[in-house]
Amino acid sequence: MATKRQVYMDHSATTPVDPRVLEAMLPYLREEFGNPSSLHRLGQRASRAVEGARRKVAEVLNCAPREVVFTGCGTESDNLAIRGAALALRHKGRHIVTTPVEHKAVLKTVQQLEQHWGFEVTYVPVDRYGRVSAEDVERALRPDTVLISVMYANNEVGTIMPVAEIGRLARERGIIFHCDAVQAGGYLNLDVDELHVDLMALSGHKFHAPKGVGVLYVRRNTPFVSTLTGGGQEAGYRSGTHNVAGIVGLATALELAQTGRDEKNARLRTMRDRLIAELTARVPGMELSGHPTERLPGLASFTLEDVSSDGLLLALDLEGIAASSGSACSSGEITPSHVLKAMGLSHRRSIGALRLSLGDDNTPEDVEYALEVIPRVVERLRQYAPAS
Ligand code: PLP
Repeated sequence: MATKRQVYMDHSATTPVDPRVLEAMLPYLREEFGNPSSLHRLGQRASRAVEGARRKVAEVLNCAPREVVFTGCGTESDNLAIRGAALALRHKGRHIVTTPVEHKAVLKTVQQLEQHWGFEVTYVPVDRYGRVSAEDVERALRPDTVLISVMYANNEVGTIMPVAEIGRLARERGIIFHCDAVQAGGYLNLDVDELHVDLMALSGHKFHAPKGVGVLYVRRNTPFVSTLTGGGQEAGYRSGTHNVAGIVGLATALELAQTGRDEKNARLRTMRDRLIAELTARVPGMELSGHPTERLPGLASFTLEDVSSDGLLLALDLEGIAASSGSACSSGEITPSHVLKAMGLSHRRSIGALRLSLGDDNTPEDVEYALEVIPRVVERLRQYAPAS
């Protein structure tokens, strides 16, 4: 039997490590295994590698190297940022403004601050494209607001938020602004001054570095209490022995992603737009979710009626296509995604979500294969296993 074509269209979940990134990392997994906190030469060489990586990241972010904090992942960066700033500012005020479409790394953290630390959280509604407006954020501000947290680009539907506008108004009011830029890292402008962010989270595995390494940008003089205490690494912002190879890999990957950004994005946009145009035309009832233009270059997301995401994903997997949905499955029940719900989509439509997220390794032939397979699979599911 001929093996099926394998098409990976789940780059929003994670990306393969770029061979150039792996090459840069290998010495630090082999002979250069020192602990950067050690005084001997082996340790000091590892320390120099970490500081070199910090300078590279700082260049992309247009910030000072000491404002770059290496962490264990995007979730950790979001947690450290939100809890760290909120706890440092709790005597000034206990009001946080965010959106209902944030990643759980943000939502669960602000919920915990509400439950255990007496904070109040306002969730500014988004429009049907999943976009929040800066005006609505401004209206939600109160004299006791100490923190705004709004993501750069949504992980489920790819919608890009007006981050620079929100940042500007936060700056005018003296409110700390945290931005979860995990999905934006490989694709969008990360200049922290142009974005007016005080805290920003990135995650290496979303842009061809390995899993288990992230960045938290912390603007100088941002009130901050570290919630990961210990040996005082990363200037006390994030204790814990450095993941030297991972840090070197992240910096290499970020530099590669940002250097070829415009060209890569143009290529991704062409493939994404073909998927959107053709699938919405060929599959009855298939609709684009998220913003039509303000969206990540490689992300096409859809909703369908009469098909459940999990059935569709399993059927696509059998055809060699790795994709994703916005829905999480818990205890056998399909729970519609909190993002699609906040966008006002019906239950019926939001349990049939499909996210195709493209990356550097995808080709136009992959797109043609998906265009051939998806309509056929949806039709078959509707016939034999319609969602109830
Ligand atoms: N924030 C967003 C928007 C994400 O998409 C993700 C991961 O999917 C995270 C945070 C968490 O990042 P990590 O997987 O590095 O913990």
